Amino acid sequence: MSGTNYSKNTKRRLKPKYKNIAVILAALLLIISGTSYALSSSRKAPPPADDTLEQDGGSQLPSVELPSLPDEEPVDVDPAETDPTNQNSYYFDFVSMTEADLGTGELVLVNNMIKFRGSVNEEELLVVRDNKNSSYMVSDRNVKLLPSAMSALNEMLGDFFAATGNNGVMARSGYRTVEYQQELYEDDLASSGASSSTLVAMPGYSEHHTGLVVDFTTYNSQTDSYREFDGTGDFAWIMENCHRYGFINRYPEGKEKLTLIDNEPWHFRYVGIPHASIMKDYDFCLEEYIDFIKNYTIDSGFLLKDTDDGARYIVYYVPLSSGETTAVYHPKKHGSDEFYPYSISGNNVDGFIVTVQLREPSQPAQDNS
Ligand SMILES: [Zn+2]
Repeated sequence: MSGTNYSKNTKRRLKPKYKNIAVILAALLLIISGTSYALSSSRKAPPPADDTLEQDGGSQLPSVELPSLPDEEPVDVDPAETDPTNQNSYYFDFVSMTEADLGTGELVLVNNMIKFRGSVNEEELLVVRDNKNSSYMVSDRNVKLLPSAMSALNEMLGDFFAATGNNGVMARSGYRTVEYQQELYEDDLASSGASSSTLVAMPGYSEHHTGLVVDFTTYNSQTDSYREFDGTGDFAWIMENCHRYGFINRYPEGKEKLTLIDNEPWHFRYVGIPHASIMKDYDFCLEEYIDFIKNYTIDSGFLLKDTDDGARYIVYYVPLSSGETTAVYHPKKHGSDEFYPYSISGNNVDGFIVTVQLREPSQPAQDNS
């Protein structure tokens, strides 16, 4: 993410707020006139027997004092609760992003047609061996991940072990350099004799370059044997629940024409919360999801997702502008100068995806001890 530029800001959507104020004023006027109408008509209706209303000496309608109304507080509803998908519910500020930022973030789309335009700062990578918990294994010290994927992996496999008692998952591949992918690709071509591969992504086009991917295998210590991770048996838990931790099974069966990679149950990609859950809701692969999000913009309305843990998110797309920078707007909290927690990810193609957490999870984190 590039530097935040708050100074220039501007409440992007002043007009709608004025519109709201106008609506409130109109409503107040209606209430006031309605009230005075009610008072005056009740006064008029049955000619008062012992005209108590007159006794103050009021000659004309007069002593109906309006100030009783303003005692009522104006209704103060957080529009983000009542109308969360509508831009008019928010004030915004913005962050300036550039084309170079397209390749950064958890929602970058990388496949055999779309080269990874970002790059990982290798100093940020974590060695899984040094950062993992005891609920799974890792093949060697070369398996590295970015911190977001690393902590999600620990949580997921911690919960998997707690649920099944199975500690046989082994992380066997994480971040890969382009040079290493080149070796893998050439080895695959050599062994298959084909001119291109449907199993190994081309160098520069592998998701493993993002630092957000982990491949699993399984190890059985009793038989001292390895088995391909196929997502069956105990491991079906991971296929079913990975979305809660922000992971997707990236190359599912049935999506080969879109992913351009054969079904690979062992390859998990971190895309973050709530995206993995939305993809599961719609049965989308990442190619479909990145396209789908483009339907949700500041102008057309936000994508709303309430996750199982009680949290609430809005998601929307901001296309890369043709100018030097793109102003990516994100909302402020109601009646506050604070912002909702948010993240901005490039899609590695043509725009940015904004994720805003409107409400925190209500359920306590699971206890894995
Ligand atoms: Zn993989």
